[in-house]
Amino acid sequence: MQMIRIAGAGPAGLSAAITLAQAGYEVNVFERHPDVGGRFSGDLQGLENWSERTDVLTDLSAMGLKVNFECTPFSELTVTNGTLIEELKTKRPLFYLVKRGSMPGTLDQGLKQQALAVGVNINFSVALKPDKADIVATGPIMTKLFGLDAGLVFSTKLPDLAIGIALDDAGYKGYAYLLVTNGYGCLCTVLFDQLNRLESCLAAAKQICARLVDLDIVDGRKVGGVGSFVLDNVWERDQQKFVGEAAGLQDLLWGFGIRNALTSGWLAARGVITRTSFTKLAQHRFRQRNRAGVVNRYLWERLGQHDYRTVIRQLGHSANPFPLLRSFYNFNLLQRALYPFALRHTRQRYRHLVV
Ligand SMILES: Cc1cc2nc3c(=O)[nH]c(=O)nc-3n(C[C@H](O)[C@H](O)[C@H](O)COP(=O)(O)OP(=O)(O)OC[C@H]3O[C@@H](n4cnc5c(N)ncnc54)[C@H](O)[C@@H]3O)c2cc1C
Repeated sequence: MQMIRIAGAGPAGLSAAITLAQAGYEVNVFERHPDVGGRFSGDLQGLENWSERTDVLTDLSAMGLKVNFECTPFSELTVTNGTLIEELKTKRPLFYLVKRGSMPGTLDQGLKQQALAVGVNINFSVALKPDKADIVATGPIMTKLFGLDAGLVFSTKLPDLAIGIALDDAGYKGYAYLLVTNGYGCLCTVLFDQLNRLESCLAAAKQICARLVDLDIVDGRKVGGVGSFVLDNVWERDQQKFVGEAAGLQDLLWGFGIRNALTSGWLAARGVITRTSFTKLAQHRFRQRNRAGVVNRYLWERLGQHDYRTVIRQLGHSANPFPLLRSFYNFNLLQRALYPFALRHTRQRYRHLVV
């Protein structure tokens, strides 16, 4: 059977590799770092569970992926702008908290173990030129970046908790968050513009959290990185398939890209196995969702004003926030009507951050 070469051992590349190897393909993954997870250093990230009707873990299982990494369900989230405080409590988890990086227990190590177990050959410390790969899973496109997420991970006596802060002073046009699981915390700010405000945003986020909980930070370590957002995805060029962030797949609203990365890797592999056009599969799965993302970003910035009180109130007042959250992703009538305008606006708006 055909040998497949994959550039990048992130969630997108490994999900493709696992699926192909399970179907009997010989798979060679090339990873430029000496181990998986090199882009992160113990950051806590949310595997979002609100954009689809199916639970994300059910989706993973349907893709043949196991949960062999630390994965904590969160059904409670405090949402605040520093003044308004709303407590969301949901029946099904809003998200699952996972750790990213090279250390034991991370999503990255879990996927690596699954890949090795099905016979994937991972070549570490080898950068593969993307044009030599069948599947390009190399992560952010560094000429198209406009998101920055940075903060601290630390040990703490705090109980498990999740706080999301929507306030420009704490995360410019983005948000900030405090997550704690099993005595391990992560406090970060996410900026979509004015990236030079990183320190002041982080300080404001810290202050807001300290007003809500007894913020106990021990052995703090810096974490963070950039994300790229592309308004027109490239799924295939010549014979190559592009997956995850390398295909420009991100959640333009809040930057939750893991689910997209895993799904796109799986879809690219299914395209190879079933000899189906990956472009068709990817467009069917992601096109509407990505377009909705463009409108979401536009509305978040325009209607959010400075302190996002309308969204916070709406979320807090709905007995079940899932239909509202899901509606952000299904390219509804309003989003369709606004799309051409939002696309033009977003292109203009972020022109200065594209290098
Ligand atoms: C700080 C931060 C916080 C985030 N928080 C969340 C969150 O809470 N929830 C969420 O869903 N998403 C989050 N994201 C986004 C999420 O991390 C990404 O969408 C996801 O990791 C993308 O997976 P990927 O496989 O496409 O790329 P990556 O995870 O970047 O993996 C790409 C891999 O390719 C390797 N590589 C690159 N070039 C080459 C080459 N030429 N040859 C060989 N290897 C190469 C890299 O070293 C890397 O290991 C966050 C992102 C950042 C930066």
